Amino acid sequence: MRDKFIWFWAFLMPFMSLAQTKQNNYVVMVSLDGFRHDYVKKFNPPHLSKLIKEGASAQSVIPVYPSKTFPNHYSIVTGMYANKHGLIDNPFYDTEIEAVYSSSNREVSLDPKWYGGTPLWQLAQGQGLKTASFFWVGSELPIKGQYPTYHKKYDPAIPNQERIDQTVAWLSLPEAERPRLITLYFSLVDDAGHRYGPDSPEVKQAVLQADSLVGKLQNALKNIALPITLLIVSDHGMEQINPVQEYFVNLEKIADLRDTTINFFSNAVHTQFYFKDKTKIDKAYQDLKKNEKNYTVFLRKDIPKHWHYNLPTRTGDMLVVAKPPYLIGGNHAEKKMYKEQTRGQHGYDPYTYKNMHAIFYAWGAHIKPNFALPTFEIVHIYPLVAHLLGLDIPKDIDGKLKVLKKILKK
Ligand code: AMP
Ligand code: ZN
Ligand code: ZN
Repeated sequence: MRDKFIWFWAFLMPFMSLAQTKQNNYVVMVSLDGFRHDYVKKFNPPHLSKLIKEGASAQSVIPVYPSKTFPNHYSIVTGMYANKHGLIDNPFYDTEIEAVYSSSNREVSLDPKWYGGTPLWQLAQGQGLKTASFFWVGSELPIKGQYPTYHKKYDPAIPNQERIDQTVAWLSLPEAERPRLITLYFSLVDDAGHRYGPDSPEVKQAVLQADSLVGKLQNALKNIALPITLLIVSDHGMEQINPVQEYFVNLEKIADLRDTTINFFSNAVHTQFYFKDKTKIDKAYQDLKKNEKNYTVFLRKDIPKHWHYNLPTRTGDMLVVAKPPYLIGGNHAEKKMYKEQTRGQHGYDPYTYKNMHAIFYAWGAHIKPNFALPTFEIVHIYPLVAHLLGLDIPKDIDGKLKVLKKILKK
């Protein structure tokens, strides 16, 4: 029976429009963390270069501010800017619940109270579809009471090949159990980017490895003969940092910050300050302002509107943002970074610095071949996925379907 079904699709698919297959479409969305917008041009990976010719590709994708992993993966699956979905950084403080969120503290990061919006898997399940996730930010906790139908506990040690094999196994399940949306996550390019910098031979190697994984996945999908759209995305780019000793700004040497704030939260390129005593803000701001050269300091009310970053309970009273290739932080961060010898970093203003831009490539029976899209913002991926799956798109998202709809054949 299953075989008959597959041959039925293999025969009909090339002749069917999206509207006709909508009730049966599949989306496999792969995140290559830290894959910068120009890595394909820079390193010529064979499979991705071919996939771009066979499908649609954006010139680049503007991540949400800050250009970090957690806010951006969560923007992709909620279609919202950070100030709406609430996951405003990898670490941050919430002044209302008086608690710290940290992406690396699992006890905290698995608590649904931090996560707003309606993740794509939840949208799909609410409208009767099954979903699966081999990792994605938010996929291993019950947001609004629900996990993806199939999900995995995040473990970076699980071999990349296993993630692809599992995807193929999920797509080979009987129809009633088969997930229509699958998300996959690979961190190898971001790992090499931080360690060696985007201009290094090690990053080239990681890009080629990621490319080979994409090639294997694409070949497997071709053999499955279901109406599958493959999306290859990333969350941000990478800037070369070299060497840390000359480019690190210790903000504690410039202003009195340690005793006046409820700790402070730094991701190496942007630091938020939550003041205990609000009368101390002005002096700290003025001191930092006088030395403003390799960073910019903002009071919360002055944060650029187009960053969509002002969430009063979570955004600090004051925000300091480094300019590439500088890094910022306090005494603690200084020690840590000198020890780690970072060679690549991201998190900078993605609207100003193109090296922060990410990728978007789409391939499948419904995608126009060799179609080039101009740069767009990452929140627009969500409505495209919802549309491909025939789902009603929530009204409260920031993304707009019209931005990516043009990649679809009629
Ligand atoms: P960063 O470079 O600091 O923005 O974060 C990248 C790191 O986030 C990667 O090295 C991953 O190990 C980690 N990461 C990615 N997805 C998850 C997840 N779902 N749960 C926990 N950690 C994750
Ligand atoms: Zn990332
Ligand atoms: Zn990273």
